[in-house]
Amino acid sequence: MVNISALPGGFPRGRPARHTFTEPAGSVFCCPRLTVVDPICSSKGCRNDATWELHWNNPKLHTPERRKIWLACDEHRASLSAFLEARGFLRETVART
Ligand SMILES: [Zn+2]
Repeated sequence: MVNISALPGGFPRGRPARHTFTEPAGSVFCCPRLTVVDPICSSKGCRNDATWELHWNNPKLHTPERRKIWLACDEHRASLSAFLEARGFLRETVART
Protein backbone atom coordinates (compact mmCIF):
# COMPACT_ATOMS: atom_id res chain seq x y z
CA MET A 1 0.00 0.00 0.00
CA VAL A 2 1.35 3.37 -1.01
CA ASN A 3 0.40 6.53 0.78
CA ILE A 4 0.80 9.52 -1.52
CA SER A 5 -0.98 12.08 0.61
CA ALA A 6 0.77 14.92 2.40
CA LEU A 7 2.71 14.12 5.53
CA PRO A 8 1.01 14.69 8.88
CA GLY A 9 1.72 18.21 9.98
CA GLY A 10 2.67 19.35 6.52
CA PHE A 11 5.90 20.92 5.46
CA PRO A 12 7.07 24.25 6.89
CA ARG A 13 7.66 25.96 3.58
CA GLY A 14 5.86 28.60 1.64
CA ARG A 15 6.83 27.43 -1.81
CA PRO A 16 8.66 24.59 -3.47
CA ALA A 17 11.98 25.22 -5.15
CA ARG A 18 11.37 25.67 -8.86
CA HIS A 19 13.57 23.81 -11.28
CA THR A 20 14.12 23.45 -14.95
CA PHE A 21 15.76 20.61 -16.76
CA THR A 22 18.43 21.63 -19.22
CA GLU A 23 20.12 19.39 -21.74
CA PRO A 24 23.88 19.83 -21.89
CA ALA A 25 24.70 21.20 -25.35
CA GLY A 26 25.72 18.56 -27.86
CA SER A 27 24.88 15.67 -25.56
CA VAL A 28 22.03 13.39 -26.53
CA PHE A 29 22.58 10.58 -24.08
CA CYS A 30 23.55 12.42 -20.94
CA CYS A 31 20.98 12.85 -18.18
CA PRO A 32 19.31 16.26 -17.93
CA ARG A 33 20.89 18.54 -15.40
CA LEU A 34 18.76 19.89 -12.58
CA THR A 35 18.96 23.66 -12.45
CA VAL A 36 17.40 25.80 -9.77
CA VAL A 37 15.82 28.84 -11.40
CA ASP A 38 14.47 30.63 -8.34
CA PRO A 39 17.24 30.62 -5.70
CA ILE A 40 15.11 31.97 -2.85
CA CYS A 41 14.90 30.37 0.61
CA SER A 42 12.09 27.76 0.84
CA SER A 43 11.14 28.75 4.37
CA LYS A 44 7.64 30.18 4.59
CA GLY A 45 7.57 33.95 4.16
CA CYS A 46 11.35 34.24 3.70
CA ARG A 47 12.66 36.14 0.69
CA ASN A 48 16.37 35.78 1.40
CA ASP A 49 18.70 34.45 -1.25
CA ALA A 50 19.27 30.74 -0.73
CA THR A 51 22.83 29.84 0.19
CA TRP A 52 22.17 26.16 0.89
CA GLU A 53 20.48 23.27 -0.86
CA LEU A 54 18.93 20.56 1.27
CA HIS A 55 18.66 17.36 -0.74
CA TRP A 56 16.12 14.95 0.67
CA ASN A 57 14.20 11.82 -0.09
CA ASN A 58 11.10 10.33 1.45
CA PRO A 59 11.55 6.55 1.14
CA LYS A 60 7.79 6.04 1.42
CA LEU A 61 7.16 8.22 -1.64
CA HIS A 62 10.34 8.30 -3.68
CA THR A 63 12.72 5.83 -5.25
CA PRO A 64 16.09 5.82 -3.40
CA GLU A 65 17.95 7.79 -6.08
CA ARG A 66 15.31 10.52 -6.31
CA ARG A 67 16.17 13.87 -4.68
CA LYS A 68 13.84 16.63 -3.67
CA ILE A 69 15.50 19.98 -3.04
CA TRP A 70 14.69 22.67 -0.54
CA LEU A 71 16.58 25.92 -0.66
CA ALA A 72 17.61 27.68 2.52
CA CYS A 73 19.25 30.91 3.59
CA ASP A 74 21.81 30.92 6.43
CA GLU A 75 19.06 31.79 8.89
CA HIS A 76 16.75 28.89 8.01
CA ARG A 77 19.20 26.15 7.09
CA ALA A 78 19.24 24.77 10.66
CA SER A 79 15.45 24.67 11.12
CA LEU A 80 14.71 23.23 7.67
CA SER A 81 17.42 20.58 7.90
CA ALA A 82 16.33 19.68 11.44
CA PHE A 83 12.79 19.13 10.13
CA LEU A 84 14.04 16.77 7.43
CA GLU A 85 16.56 15.06 9.68
CA ALA A 86 13.93 14.32 12.34
CA ARG A 87 12.00 12.35 9.71
CA GLY A 88 15.07 10.62 8.32
CA PHE A 89 14.66 12.36 4.95
CA LEU A 90 17.80 14.49 4.77
CA ARG A 91 20.47 13.12 2.41
CA GLU A 92 22.90 16.00 1.74
CA THR A 93 23.28 19.64 2.62
CA VAL A 94 25.12 21.44 -0.17
CA ALA A 95 26.47 24.99 -0.12
CA ARG A 96 25.41 26.98 -3.19
CA THR A 97 28.27 28.74 -4.90
ZN1 LIG B 1 15.21 31.90 4.93
